[in-house]
Amino acid sequence: MLQSPGEKSTHPRAKRLYDSSLYQFDAVEPSCWEASAGEHEVDSPALTHDCSCDVAIIGGGYTGLSTAYHLAKHHHVDVRVLEAGHLGWGASGRNGGFCSLGGSKLGLEKAISRFGVDAVRHYWKSQVEGVELVLNLIADEKIDAQVAGDAELDIAYSAKSFADLNAYAKTQRLLLGLDTSAISREEFRERYFDSPQQHGAIRIRPTVGLHPLRFLRGLAGAALSGGAMLHAHSEVVSWTKVGDRHLLSTAGGTVRAAKVVMAANGFMPEHLHTSFVGRPMPMISAIVVTRPLTEDELAAQRWQTFCPSITARNLLNYFRLLPDKRFLFGGRGHSSGSKAGTEKNYAGLTGRLRQLWPSWRGVPIEYQWQGLVCFTRRLTPSIGRLADDPSVFFGFGYHGNGVNTATWAGRELAKWIASSEGKSVPDSIPQMVVGMSDRFPLAAMRLWFLRARLAVMRAADQIDVLRSGS
Ligand SMILES: Cc1cc2nc3c(=O)[nH]c(=O)nc-3n(C[C@H](O)[C@H](O)[C@H](O)COP(=O)(O)OP(=O)(O)OC[C@H]3O[C@@H](n4cnc5c(N)ncnc54)[C@H](O)[C@@H]3O)c2cc1C
Repeated sequence: MLQSPGEKSTHPRAKRLYDSSLYQFDAVEPSCWEASAGEHEVDSPALTHDCSCDVAIIGGGYTGLSTAYHLAKHHHVDVRVLEAGHLGWGASGRNGGFCSLGGSKLGLEKAISRFGVDAVRHYWKSQVEGVELVLNLIADEKIDAQVAGDAELDIAYSAKSFADLNAYAKTQRLLLGLDTSAISREEFRERYFDSPQQHGAIRIRPTVGLHPLRFLRGLAGAALSGGAMLHAHSEVVSWTKVGDRHLLSTAGGTVRAAKVVMAANGFMPEHLHTSFVGRPMPMISAIVVTRPLTEDELAAQRWQTFCPSITARNLLNYFRLLPDKRFLFGGRGHSSGSKAGTEKNYAGLTGRLRQLWPSWRGVPIEYQWQGLVCFTRRLTPSIGRLADDPSVFFGFGYHGNGVNTATWAGRELAKWIASSEGKSVPDSIPQMVVGMSDRFPLAAMRLWFLRARLAVMRAADQIDVLRSGS
């Protein structure tokens, strides 16, 4: 029998939420990562013929490649990755390179009341495991990922914000067993950097900064050596099912597979399969990067760290000094991704950077780019398999923290698939992330809800700043 998992969609691109410029799979995002990824592209020819495999994966980012790597190398499964752009075209090749803890936007209290304290502890343990997994992969597969820094710094913007962070650090330490500690404003200034808007910080370990595209290419190379087949420039344009086989069609050929993994996160082609419609909430995140800073410029802000850092606000900024002394500064992107809006957003980010470190006002920006992160309705990652078709697996919704979480999700999915004759969810996957997150109501209107929510958060941030007098 021929079923069409995406039968309700009209046109392959009908369900795209943002400006079409966000989905140009042939275009290369002008990031500093693309400019410094090194010579060696991983062999990943476009699909040019029909073929079969056991597991087909849609998406060649960390989720897809980690699943493929672990399936091929550790479980000897016949697996193919289909990627619409080049490998790492999506968020995995464009992110800030924070390999840190996070992955959920559900507050601790809500998480505990919904899932219980043990489940919450299990989740944070998996986050630590995710960072360790990335570091082990880098070491085992000899990936030149330019690892730098040894903690994440969350910077307070007022005395009250520091008190709040302090309380949070205590909970992380005592309740979750994490290595989180507070640093006073004075000590922070001596050891890390200064800014008119730093009022102390907390330091969270384990965290490192890395070169996201080098890590991705290393992972892809290791997946290939392990036996996975990788096909770049092979957008899946239709998905049907004949009997117990999935047929994923690209312009160059069709893959026939027993199992499919949807690994496309914020770029998810929801139209391919009705079960995915309305599940992800993609959101634009944007980055600007300066030219390399001179020693004098760094000294002017007392800058002494490669640790990835964030401002502890609702609408946070993330930043790090890169190994070549360029400064990377990121934050929320424009709400539609239109050309004019995107340019305005980059200007806003640059202005904010200069506000935080006034000595760098004259330093030019040399790179700016953006991409899609992915939220879910329940505010935790969504990792699992479809209830009505156990041959379809998925991992998405890492809430802007996918370097560790997506890589970890890939490993867990591989374990699950390889043992999937055993039907139940592996114990190693925390309850907080298992299964499909609910659909957003009025899915086509998702961006309007997002814009309204962001406006409220922005107003709350401003009130907070006014109250604290910073
Ligand atoms: C600007 C930015 C900064 C970020 N900073 C950080 C950070 O510092 N630390 C952190 O942990 N996380 C960060 N993130 C989030 C992190 O990058 C993502 O969570 C993670 O990369 C998701 O990996 P993924 O493999 O699931 O998805 P992606 O890497 O987005 O890959 C999905 C892939 O699916 C492909 N695809 C889509 N449709 C199809 C189709 N029909 N056929 C075939 N392929 C298809 C896309 O081309 C894409 O390459 C950031 C994200 C962005 C955008």
